[in-house]
Amino acid sequence: MLRPPPQLTVSEWAERHRMLGSRASAEPGPWRTSRTPYLKDVMDALSAVHPARRVVFMKGAQVGAPLAITTPIPTAEGWATMGSLSVGDTLFDERGHPCRVIGVSPIMIGRACYTITFDDGETIVCDGEHRWPVWDFTDNEGPRARVLHTRDMAPWVRIGRGPRYRYAIDCCSPAELPDQDLLIHPYVLGMWLGDGSSTMNHISVHEEDAEAAEHLQASGVVAQFRLPRWRKGRCANIVIDPTFRVVGDGDTPASVQHRSRFTTRLRTLDVLDNKHIPAAYLRASREQRLDLIRGMMDSDGTITPDGKRCEFCNGDRRLVDGMIELLRSLGYKPTVYFMASRRKVINGQDRTCLGYWRVSWTAYCEEPMFRLSRKVARMRPIARGRPGKSRRRRIVSIEPTNSVPVRCIEVDSPNHLYLCGEGWIPTHNTESGNNWLGYIMHHVPAPALAVQPTVELAKRFSRQRIDPLLEETPALRERVAPARARDSGNTMLSKEFPGGILVLTGANSAVGLRSMTARFLFLDEVDAYPGDVAGEGDPIALAEARARTFGWRRKAFLVSTPTISGRSRIEREYLASDQRRFFVPCTACGEMQWLRFERLLWEKGAPETARYHCSTCDHPMQEHDKTAMLGGGEWRATAAGQDPHTIGFHISALYSPVGWLSWAQIARDWEAAQGKPEDIKTFRNTVLGETWQEQGEAPDWERLVERREDFAMGVVPLGALVLTAGVDVQDDRLECDVWGWAEGFSSWLVDHAVIPGSPRDRETWDELAKLLARDWPRQGGGAMRIARLCVDTGGRDTAAVYGHLRRLRDPRIAPTKGIDGWNRAQPVQGPTPVDALVNGQKLRRGLKLWTVSVSTWKADLYRRLWLGRGDAEELPPGWVHLPRAIDVEWIKQLVAEQLRTTKDRRGFARQEWAKLRERNEALDCAVLARAALWLLGADRYGERFWQQLRDQIADAPMLASEIPTAGNVANPSPLPQADPAPAFDTQRPRGWLAPRSGWLR
Ligand SMILES: [Zn+2]
Repeated sequence: MLRPPPQLTVSEWAERHRMLGSRASAEPGPWRTSRTPYLKDVMDALSAVHPARRVVFMKGAQVGAPLAITTPIPTAEGWATMGSLSVGDTLFDERGHPCRVIGVSPIMIGRACYTITFDDGETIVCDGEHRWPVWDFTDNEGPRARVLHTRDMAPWVRIGRGPRYRYAIDCCSPAELPDQDLLIHPYVLGMWLGDGSSTMNHISVHEEDAEAAEHLQASGVVAQFRLPRWRKGRCANIVIDPTFRVVGDGDTPASVQHRSRFTTRLRTLDVLDNKHIPAAYLRASREQRLDLIRGMMDSDGTITPDGKRCEFCNGDRRLVDGMIELLRSLGYKPTVYFMASRRKVINGQDRTCLGYWRVSWTAYCEEPMFRLSRKVARMRPIARGRPGKSRRRRIVSIEPTNSVPVRCIEVDSPNHLYLCGEGWIPTHNTESGNNWLGYIMHHVPAPALAVQPTVELAKRFSRQRIDPLLEETPALRERVAPARARDSGNTMLSKEFPGGILVLTGANSAVGLRSMTARFLFLDEVDAYPGDVAGEGDPIALAEARARTFGWRRKAFLVSTPTISGRSRIEREYLASDQRRFFVPCTACGEMQWLRFERLLWEKGAPETARYHCSTCDHPMQEHDKTAMLGGGEWRATAAGQDPHTIGFHISALYSPVGWLSWAQIARDWEAAQGKPEDIKTFRNTVLGETWQEQGEAPDWERLVERREDFAMGVVPLGALVLTAGVDVQDDRLECDVWGWAEGFSSWLVDHAVIPGSPRDRETWDELAKLLARDWPRQGGGAMRIARLCVDTGGRDTAAVYGHLRRLRDPRIAPTKGIDGWNRAQPVQGPTPVDALVNGQKLRRGLKLWTVSVSTWKADLYRRLWLGRGDAEELPPGWVHLPRAIDVEWIKQLVAEQLRTTKDRRGFARQEWAKLRERNEALDCAVLARAALWLLGADRYGERFWQQLRDQIADAPMLASEIPTAGNVANPSPLPQADPAPAFDTQRPRGWLAPRSGWLR
């Protein structure tokens, strides 16, 4: 007689069949449900026989291996720090492919940390537990690939007592990015950046290099090679796009007269008088980045006579940094030397020869660094070099260092590696498996759809989770043919198996969501789904519609770490469910209870004393009691669900099994997050698995009036390191508030100015220019200017405001337009060029406009205004200091709005700012001043930003007298160079922080 197959539950299936490989798990070996007893019911609710149709699982995120939070990380948008990353950010994996952050841990302190130094000078601080893929050079046969913890390598950096270093890591493969639509061909821009006039369309070249004009022509511009009579030495001249068009009268500056398409485009890129590599070029495709390097090398580069080293010399630190970043992103190992400034006597005159940087690296003719044939000819083939040496970086020291705050990130890269450090060093990461899909494929074959936030993530999910699942579980290996086998019916996004198919797709693809009817839906990380997919509505609803034909046999599993209250899908789904919590028994009185963070108590400053206190008898339970508690636990519903077929589970890291995240560590993380609202938010999301409530309620203005402090207005307080300003444009006046800033975004209202007059009038804006030219005395000596100022152009006279701002031509002015939306990752976007009306003439793309997500910055201000004083002597970082002299009306304006939660027509919560009072200028100005600080890079560069400001202020008295001019020092150009304008750069902090920026007096 034929017997039906045994009806296993998902957890029974996992116990019997699932193997966790070393590739896919922190704890390899057979799956043991007893390790995490709370997962049993969650999984079993997904079994075919269980009546639930929808299973909602709201949880904290996982924890991997940590890197210091100040570690710079290259992202697709530019540099970020480890501490500033959030879920959804795009990084690069070790092969240079973009990958996405799918989890971030809270910031951890008190860990054993080390400083690792590499042979190209790069240093990085990381946790002792961090795992590195390294080459180990102890064997005589050659290096061996291993993965080692920092602490294990630390004592063995050198081989024996000799001079040789034992460990090396690979330089990364070139970062693969799509072709960018670039305004100027990268080769042409590279030529101009290397040796072009900083204001015009002229490039100086060696007289033998007429060939350069041909290469420029081939890159799509008109280029004329000229040998001017007045030339000095053997310099020739190339003019790009030589169509002069004189506009205006004799008063028009030369740079405007020499208007050509090329110069117009240079202006749009904001490189005129401001040489740097624009961000779009740093993140362009590999071929485009190579072309940019070739342009710079053809004009400003050399190769040693033996062909071994390519060299690029320049006196502009920003160009040099850009060159290094380009080279590293292409997998090269550049080294950089600074050639110090010297005093020389030239023609009897005492002159200072300014310092410059020399960047050098090894390259081979298989990937030429030049286009000019005389330079290419010198390059050697790989066969004649030692490519391994130039593609690896030796570790030259690993020193214990003071513990620094660290955090881990989890990425969706297939090999769990992501790039860190300015040298793009690959590092390790962890992941977890998935049992339900294995159970479906093996035990209840049917069509199944697994949805990730994006299609790109679905591909990675396939490689990272599904492939190991299939390879490491014998029962699945025999049922699903490998994707590479011909006619296997399997691709990356679809896996056929007897009786069914698993399709993987992204919530951003309406086509993918509609592609098939599916009995089983796995909806992963739903809080990262787009709100609306291609105008067809909510992706969850769209996917669930595809399962309806399966009636009661269908099942959907919705999983996510929650985000912000009122906007979190998983919270919405959980609240509509029966809200199950995992109840565990007290080890003393046996009372069943679910674990709340509030019951975890410890002595302040001693997180190791953390104990969980029973809600009934107050018995303090210890870490090792957890095992018994979890073993005796059970899920209980805490609400009546709206739909009997939907069940919801919630679990926090308080339930982490012994050996994983401990209560003491949770207490430590909580202490470390104090005073930093952003970290507290991360803690609530990732540790507690709870949503974060934005502090949208307006603080009492009376309380703010009371807490005003005794510092003088119009004087920069001692703590403030930089000044920014926000300008609100009214019909009859400009309101301008000047704010001083320090680490942790502590702020001081330094000045409040009202400029009477219509925004249409020239005089009104001339007054603003005076404000920008003004020096604010600093308490303790010296003076400061406004480093950046944001103007709201959204009023009634937008066109006139554009015109006046364009006329002022101060690079510190950032014209802005406010939008209502939330955007935490990119709260200021742009700039986008807009047309400006100057002297009655329309100037196409004459002004660059920034878009400010006003809601995000208002919430940021309110979080800071709500900070509690605590019992400490010192005020917490982020404190908003208000001077005694500011009046009550201004303070009322500062808190004139409140966050309200409304429901849209589909019943989804939406949060909006609503006015409590008519006048809100102070709030608008504060938001703009904060956006200005963001533009300076304070958020992106973290501690480095403030440290450079502190250094600069310490050096200030000296710098005031000898402000060097920027320019091409290594290869002086025969063309006159204009005095550089103050150089401000939102992408990289170094350039504008240099003393020449001129706002620090
Ligand atoms: Zn008890």
